[in-house]
Amino acid sequence: MPDLRDLYQDVILEHSKRPRNYRTLEAANCTAEGFNPLCGDHFTIYVQVGDGQIRDISFQGSGCAISKASASMMTQAVKGKRTEEAEELFQKFHHVVTGKNGVESNELGKLAAFAGVSEYPVRVKCATLAWHALRAALQGEQHAVSTE
Ligand code: ZN
Repeated sequence: MPDLRDLYQDVILEHSKRPRNYRTLEAANCTAEGFNPLCGDHFTIYVQVGDGQIRDISFQGSGCAISKASASMMTQAVKGKRTEEAEELFQKFHHVVTGKNGVESNELGKLAAFAGVSEYPVRVKCATLAWHALRAALQGEQHAVSTE
């Protein structure tokens, strides 16, 4: 059992080195940019939504290991989900990375690897950047979101 308080879990390092769904998406009908000036993380999220379901999702950009791994794992976690399920997952994820109680780590699956972020408040913005951008994309906001 790995210590979940460690910031750089193996799964996080692995995703930061080999991010999944790292490409543009021709069929995207919702996109948004996310920028975390504190760390320099900058990503674009591409989403193809149909009938309230996330049919496909991808991202591109650059950032620290935490932000990149989070974006990669977020795309895997929400692909195929309904948009309201993705929002619900974001709420749970946000609770875990900010160290709030009330969410069982098994509800999050692999995303629970980010629990260690709660020990490093400055990293919360890195871990949630892609999720904020996803939310902006789904809400059809055209401007870039910034964590500041
Ligand atoms: Zn960062």
